[in-house]
Formats: sequence, C-alpha cells, structure tokens
Amino acid sequence: MDKLLEIKDLQVTFKTYAATVQAVRGVNLTVNKRETLAIVGESGSGKSVTSKAIMGLIPNPPGKITGGEILFEGTDLTKLSERKMQKYRGNEISMIFQDPMTSLNPTMTIGKQIAEGLRKHQGLSKSEARKRAVQLLDLVGIPNPQVRVKQYPHEFSGGMRQRVVIAIALACNPKLLIADEPTTALDVTIQAQILDLMKDLQAKMDTAIILITHDLGVVANMAHRVAVMYGGKIVETGTVDEIFYRPKHPYTWGLLSSMPKLHTRQSELLAIPGTPPDLANPPKGCPFAARCPHAMKVCTEFMPDYSDVSDTQQVACWLQDERAPKVEPPETIGVGGRTR
Ligand code: SF4
Repeated sequence: MDKLLEIKDLQVTFKTYAATVQAVRGVNLTVNKRETLAIVGESGSGKSVTSKAIMGLIPNPPGKITGGEILFEGTDLTKLSERKMQKYRGNEISMIFQDPMTSLNPTMTIGKQIAEGLRKHQGLSKSEARKRAVQLLDLVGIPNPQVRVKQYPHEFSGGMRQRVVIAIALACNPKLLIADEPTTALDVTIQAQILDLMKDLQAKMDTAIILITHDLGVVANMAHRVAVMYGGKIVETGTVDEIFYRPKHPYTWGLLSSMPKLHTRQSELLAIPGTPPDLANPPKGCPFAARCPHAMKVCTEFMPDYSDVSDTQQVACWLQDERAPKVEPPETIGVGGRTR
C-alpha cells in the first residue's frame, strides 16, 4: 500500500497558567492513499489535537508541537513555515469540522466561499471558480446549484450546510481529507446521507480520509482501519474487522461494550467506570490502568510496548506479555453497530 501520511512519535503540549498539558504523547500513525483511517476515543484522548497538528492548526501559544514528525509524502509538515504550510492546507490536505454553521462565513455567499480556495490554490479566474463552484454543489447533491451558489449559509438546512462544507473541503481535490466528527451535529437520517456522500466522493476522487469520531457505528460504516486513542496515546490499531471482531485492548473492549447493540437482550448501555487520566500529570505506566479491570502492578509502573497481533494489528497492553494471565474479552463486546 502507498503511504500518504506517516506520523512518528508526535508530541503536542498546551501551556496553561496552572500546568503544561501533554495532550498528545508519542503518537505513531500511517495513512495510506485512498484509505479511511478512523481515530476513535473519548473526548480529551488527543484525537482532535492530532488532526489539528496535521493541518498546522495548533494555536501557538498556548499549544506547541514539542516532538516528532508529520511526514506528508515525505515532507515533514512540522518543519514548514506558515507560508509554506498554506500551500498544503486547503489544497493537499483539507478538513471538515463538526459544526457546519461555525465553519462557514455567514456574511459571504456559498459560491464565494467555495471559489476562495480555487482562486488561491489553483489560480482560477473569477468566472472559472464560479463555474467550478456550481459543479461542486451539484457533485455534493445540492439541487438547483445555479441558484444556491448565490445564497448565504443561513438559507441552507444543517445537512445542506454540511454538504457545502464538504464541497469546500474537496474543491481543490485534496489527497487527504480530515473529517472531525463530521456528522455529530446532524440528525440520524442526514448523518447517513452525509456518510454515504463522503464514501461516494472518496471513490470518485481517490481521497484518503482520517475520520475522527467517538461513534463506533460511523467507524463500522466508513473505515478500513482504526486507531484507538486513550490518554494522548494510540493503544490499539487494526483493520476494522480486527478491532470489531478480535480486539485485544481492555479499553477497546470497554468502547465496544458501551455501543448500543441490535438483536441482544442487553437493555442498558455499559459505560466505562472512572474518568480519563489528567494529562497535566499523566500516569507513567499504562494510561488506562486506573480504569482497567485487569490492571497489574507492572501496568502502573511501565508503559507497555506495542505487540504485533498480526501484520495489521498492534496493541499496547501488558496482557500480551507471555507471563501475563490469560484474559478473555467480555461477552458484552458486540458488533451491533456494523452495517456492512
Ligand atoms: Fe489494563 Fe494493564 Fe493492559 Fe493497561 S496494560 S490495558 S492496565 S492490562
């Protein structure tokens, strides 16, 4: 598989008055061309910070990339000046944010907002950019695009606004699209339409997608591979089948157990007891140790290394050590949200 993006030992910190928060603590990831990688985890696990670091959008101060590399087709984005980074952002790499209303400018027509990137990055004339904007609105399924292109964001429904945001993100045919909770602000039927649209456009445009989400149903529907984040670290990666059917990390078990399931008698959602670690004062061992029902003494003392479960699945857990007790995944993990 062709590697598009490779993140090596990424570290991001935020300085506050009270403390320095280690939001991302040594993340390693790869994204291959044309694939969808989902990054899942609770709020504060570091998934959105990782995606903002790729886009060069960590506000400095208070944030800073304090270590590691983000290699995009071999170029380390962390070393680029803001001017050079602008050639990548919105052009080679685009981002869709959670709330379509806040990512659109309410004072500009939709057409102008789509045309902006096309004129800046692709050097199109005003009329060429306008023509392309109409084509893009058509591509993302907005009816009557000739008329809609002259309208303002408030004249669009939530789902239609997210389609516009996707049109803007894809305007320059990026190689990588980062979608940060792209459907969270939308109701369920619109969510399904937007996910279908993204899959359809990915196939048409050969774009790789990083999908940031806490919704495992969305992951099952969209992703080829999954990275599970906890406490600023990746704790498990694998193909979507490995993560859903043969997960190895107790935190992944907890996430899957907390997922609503069809065709079972389980009536309550199972939450993972406890709270995420304080990243102003992160634990020196496994970040999940305080909540893990299988934690051993070694877990609180030392961070486990990654073990290869297969060529495509890696997990950071002491249970993989040959001296550890054999622990079976709980029966409550299930695949009720899978739709493919
Ligand atoms: Fe649980 Fe230990 Fe594995 Fe961490 S390393 S998930 S605490 S068993």
